Amino acid sequence: MVYNDALTMRKRAWKADRSKVPTGALAKSVITDAKKTEARSWLGSVSVDALQSSLRDLDTAYRNFFDSLSGKRAGRRSGLPRFKSRKDNRQSLRFSRNGFRLRSNGKLNLAKIGDVRVKWSRVLPADSSSVTIVLDPSGRYHASFVVDVEPDHLPELDTEIGIDLGLTTYAVLSDGTVIDNPRFLRKAEKTLKAAQRALSRKAKGSKNRAKARRKVARAHAKVADTRLDWQHKQTTRLIRENQAVYLEDLNVRGLARTWLAKSVHDAGWSTFRRLLTEKAARYGRHVGVIGRFEPTSQVCSACGVLDGPKPLAVREWTCTACGTLHDRDLNAARNILAAGQADRLNACGGPVRPGVAIPRQVQPVETGTHRNAGRTGRKPRALARGGCQQVSFPGSSGTIGNHPALDRRRPAGHAPVPRKG
Ligand SMILES: [Zn+2]
Repeated sequence: MVYNDALTMRKRAWKADRSKVPTGALAKSVITDAKKTEARSWLGSVSVDALQSSLRDLDTAYRNFFDSLSGKRAGRRSGLPRFKSRKDNRQSLRFSRNGFRLRSNGKLNLAKIGDVRVKWSRVLPADSSSVTIVLDPSGRYHASFVVDVEPDHLPELDTEIGIDLGLTTYAVLSDGTVIDNPRFLRKAEKTLKAAQRALSRKAKGSKNRAKARRKVARAHAKVADTRLDWQHKQTTRLIRENQAVYLEDLNVRGLARTWLAKSVHDAGWSTFRRLLTEKAARYGRHVGVIGRFEPTSQVCSACGVLDGPKPLAVREWTCTACGTLHDRDLNAARNILAAGQADRLNACGGPVRPGVAIPRQVQPVETGTHRNAGRTGRKPRALARGGCQQVSFPGSSGTIGNHPALDRRRPAGHAPVPRKG
């Protein structure tokens, strides 16, 4: 309600004289003054904190829109903020530090709502600065706490690994380990279809329809939960067992538009990568992402010769130069490892000063191109790379980019891993 009122005000002001309503005036008008009117008097019974956070959300929505217009924000263009519908079943409420308290009996006290029972999924590792309560489409409320976690660095290891993500198998590691694709969505398809059919038979607007809809949502939520749980296990293991993990920057959005869409979503690569990055930061490990257009499946990992494009159906091939028989994915994983190590130790040929250089993520040049699309005559990777970027941070606080995890680089002067051959 506050969000929509504020949006109306900002839209009106913009139409009238292209002006921006200051946040203070906005808050006074849609919260403080609105409480005095009859139609909005119920706002008095809602936590002020929650009301203000919806104004902040609107602010963020506008900022994203303008940043995206000016090109400051990468990715797909964000649209103008839209009105929120009451029918929208994704509802959320945020409480900042003063808006909530944890009771000793495990209950959560929310401002103006009171004590609520919580089924804790895990113990909070530290004091939390805010909590968001989300109602998901399956009718469950979730409380997610923002917690600053102290890094918990694990002892350093010598092992580093390259990961080739795929669809036939979830991943092949450069040491030969194969992680099977669990295909949670595909497996649950029968249940999902049955629930979907039941939903379509219910009369529109009926209570039974709402119930059936929650059932469908619950079935989907279960798939998502199982997948996330599995991804947590895999990523934790990878980060624990390796000092550095390298993977390819897959064009997930591009692939998701193709006939592979369902499988790509089911694989959840972006979440996999995000979990790896988060855990690496926490445990003092390194995650390197190599550019999307490295011909990792075309280069022989034994002699380094570019052997030419291979259709996806080719699972094994023999190098024409050195005669090595390759498993397609294992060879790719080895190339990813080599490319990642070269990137990390030899950023643009210059020596790596500890804690100064961050791995560069290659900007997408062509979107929507399959990574295995035939690109003959490509130069080997080191030459195909774009410019180089070295970033230095004066302070020590900040984001992943200069996380302590990244400070633990090998000493400068360490010989960069050469491309074999
Ligand atoms: Zn070869």
